[in-house]
Amino acid sequence: MEPTLDKCPGYNLYIGGFIGLRRPQALKNANITHIVSVLDWEFKDDAPLIRGYKHFHIPVDDVEDENLLEWFPRSNAFIQQGLDYRPDRGPNSSSGVNNLDEKGSGVYIHCAMGKSRSATILLAYLLWLSRQTPLAQGSETSDMVALPRKPLSVVEALQLLRQGRPIAEPNEGFMDQLHMYEDMGCPTTEKELTNHKIYRRWMNRRKVEESLRTMQAPEMENIIFEDEPFEKEANTSSKERMTEIAPGILAPDGTTEDKARQHPHLQAMSQVSIKCRKCRHVLATTPFVVEHEPPPHRDPNSHEQPHKDGTPLPPPQCAHIFLHPLSWMKEVLAEGKMEGRLTCPNKKCGANVGKFAWTGLRCSCGGWVTPGFGIIRTKVDEIVNQRRPSPSSFANKPSTQSAGQDTSCSTGSTSALRHPPGLKSKGNL
Ligand SMILES: [Zn+2]
Ligand SMILES: [Zn+2]
Repeated sequence: MEPTLDKCPGYNLYIGGFIGLRRPQALKNANITHIVSVLDWEFKDDAPLIRGYKHFHIPVDDVEDENLLEWFPRSNAFIQQGLDYRPDRGPNSSSGVNNLDEKGSGVYIHCAMGKSRSATILLAYLLWLSRQTPLAQGSETSDMVALPRKPLSVVEALQLLRQGRPIAEPNEGFMDQLHMYEDMGCPTTEKELTNHKIYRRWMNRRKVEESLRTMQAPEMENIIFEDEPFEKEANTSSKERMTEIAPGILAPDGTTEDKARQHPHLQAMSQVSIKCRKCRHVLATTPFVVEHEPPPHRDPNSHEQPHKDGTPLPPPQCAHIFLHPLSWMKEVLAEGKMEGRLTCPNKKCGANVGKFAWTGLRCSCGGWVTPGFGIIRTKVDEIVNQRRPSPSSFANKPSTQSAGQDTSCSTGSTSALRHPPGLKSKGNL
């Protein structure tokens, strides 16, 4: 039997382990002209194994926190070049239709085992390609299947690849990176990728994690303050793009509404302001609250059950409310300490409202939040802002009756928000 390589159905893309390089006949049978090596191995120039092939080397290990994502635009371009490759037959050889012309050239993508890294690179190409217009693909060869009309998802691409390579399985970190790439719309160029908000946020998170691994407080420039617009260099002036979502708290235009739309359960939550009990300064609103869960091994008979009435805030027995880093915490975070106090940003007040620890805080319910920015519940009031869900609602003065912990105030405008979407009809509940 002819030696063969595993093939992704519908494409002249082949995948395997390092051992594939030692099977010249299999490479030849597949018309391989281009090789992508995804492994931390030193290829000497003109190494015999890759001699005669166009070669692209991605020197990464198969560990979850390797950044393979940054390579996608380059590997995609190389793979595309490989698939489009036609050998220069010279001026006198027009009659010689060789095998390559019939089948098209092939690209061999390999790592050590042909399981995680190489699969990731191949999948990234499939994701990207499925988002390009078919005309640009130059797929005139006859045995190509019809290209998908709709953009492939990561799961669909993996299902396809596994038809040809059942063991294909990107590690968890690489799966996350593929999902991120999909979420970004599969940028073609490196610049589009590295400028993308999703990528930059991810890089910031990585840098923060890197600092924490060495027990260093993260650099201020890498901390994401959720209440600030991420695109600091955007052309529109920051003021234009900011909306005051609560007194003293600015957010990029649409943040609250967008989050509420994406997460319908937030619609009810987006009403709550967390105010300093002493001076009533707003510390946060619910989009900036980090939800947390108690450890799963808790005694189910304990009285610490979540509210059955669907109260969306963390259950009241939690002594802390955890927040994302917010701009009012800058001063203390700039000190570069691993942990410290959070004080009310109202200078005249300065009440101690909680604490932070980059290594995480443990709530009274037993749940850990890392990093932890914890507000002590007894130091604040949680106030339901009775507002209509319209973009201009903050122009109408939010009614902030001192409801204290009482989240049950219901008027015509809020009660509509309390129903899940689709259950708006009156008297249905
Ligand atoms: Zn205060
Ligand atoms: Zn808790």
